[in-house]
Amino acid sequence: MKTNYDLLVIGGGPAGAIAAKTAAEAGLSVCLIEKRPAIGTPVRCAEGIGKDLLKEFIEPDERWISADIERAKIIAPNGTAIHLEQDQAGNEVGYILDRKVFDRELVWQAAEAGSDVAVKTRAVAPIMERGAVKGARVISCGAARNIGADAVIAADGVESKFARWAGIDTTVPLREMMSCAQYLMTDIPIDPASTDFYLGNEIAPQGYAWVFPKGERTANVGIGIPGSKNRDGGRARDYLDRFVAKAFPGGKVIECIVGGVSVCRPLSCTVADGLMVVGDAARVVDPVTGGGIYNAMFTGRLAGTVVAACVSAGDCSKDALMQYDEGWRTSHMGRLLERNYKVKEFFINLSDPQLNALAESIASIDLHEFTVMALIKELIKRNPKMLFELKGLKDSLS
Ligand SMILES: Cc1cc2nc3c(=O)[nH]c(=O)nc-3n(C[C@H](O)[C@H](O)[C@H](O)COP(=O)(O)OP(=O)(O)OC[C@H]3O[C@@H](n4cnc5c(N)ncnc54)[C@H](O)[C@@H]3O)c2cc1C
Repeated sequence: MKTNYDLLVIGGGPAGAIAAKTAAEAGLSVCLIEKRPAIGTPVRCAEGIGKDLLKEFIEPDERWISADIERAKIIAPNGTAIHLEQDQAGNEVGYILDRKVFDRELVWQAAEAGSDVAVKTRAVAPIMERGAVKGARVISCGAARNIGADAVIAADGVESKFARWAGIDTTVPLREMMSCAQYLMTDIPIDPASTDFYLGNEIAPQGYAWVFPKGERTANVGIGIPGSKNRDGGRARDYLDRFVAKAFPGGKVIECIVGGVSVCRPLSCTVADGLMVVGDAARVVDPVTGGGIYNAMFTGRLAGTVVAACVSAGDCSKDALMQYDEGWRTSHMGRLLERNYKVKEFFINLSDPQLNALAESIASIDLHEFTVMALIKELIKRNPKMLFELKGLKDSLS
């Protein structure tokens, strides 16, 4: 590790790895630091990603794909199931990754492109010069040191602190921070080619439970509920235990993780002088699904491209870096985030009887393609009692 770089990337998840790779390929000297001793562990993820989305970044490789998904099922509180086949569900089905290997592959590619990589190296404060971020104070294997850089990319995940230290407001309202618990379970009867989502206020109030296969009789089984509902006796892990006891009584838990997923709007600004914020740290998780791997890679790549141009031009001011902020916000991904935020706000307020009514109508529809807009149009046609709320949602989305 040197003392000065063009770019310092904080965090070795998908956002940081793609940012480091992109910037290194564009010719910058790059250092990526990761506070954990190993890239990719522990995995705090259900590991699902759409096939086409993944292929935008990397060719699928069996070394890090645990399951190839062909269908999805959404199960309403009363058990009504909506079945979606691959051609209908698009990016709602895809691959279940093995992120322990996948994240390492991405960081390995960044290293191959020329980026330095330092694990067990934690950023503890930004280095500030005349109001601009110029690197970070780090603790590397127990020793404190400074790493100077023309620009820093904060890719430090949902628990991100770096952007806040540098003056960006990163607060997430408690009700918009999903509290998640997940077991890797084995010896359970599952459809190994189907991702299943369970809705209902008893199962996961204002959230959902998921079963994402990792092979025959093995799956990530998890639950997410808003942080504001996470209380004694009703913590995410309690809901998960109740769900598992009912759905998979004979199953064995071989791994247990807890973690947060933000389902708020993205940060109101993702750049400052010398700083760009990407991935979960920028709050760009899809508010409906809680999926963030693709958006992390998308923002990481864009930040890497923009910073390469800014460093070459000798201008890493906030104004220059704004290209990144404007770029992702006006992209398809950015527009989807805004739309899905409104969709999420609508769905979390539905009662179980309303969810059942919706599922019953959808279950009988032959949707050519399962898109949110197609769904809402059908619902408006079929649910006169909910017409008013649904129409309001449709108008706000169009
Ligand atoms: C239970 C659960 C299930 C999920 N399921 C899915 C799913 O199925 N599909 C999907 O698309 N998304 C899912 N997500 C979300 C997904 O995991 C994230 O969106 C994705 O990992 C974001 O990537 P990232 O690179 O922004 O952050 P991360 O992957 O979190 O990486 C951030 C990295 O920064 C490091 N770091 C933090 N602070 C510092 C510091 N100060 N110094 C150095 N390093 C630091 C961390 O150790 C970490 O390695 C899930 C999340 C959870 C919690």
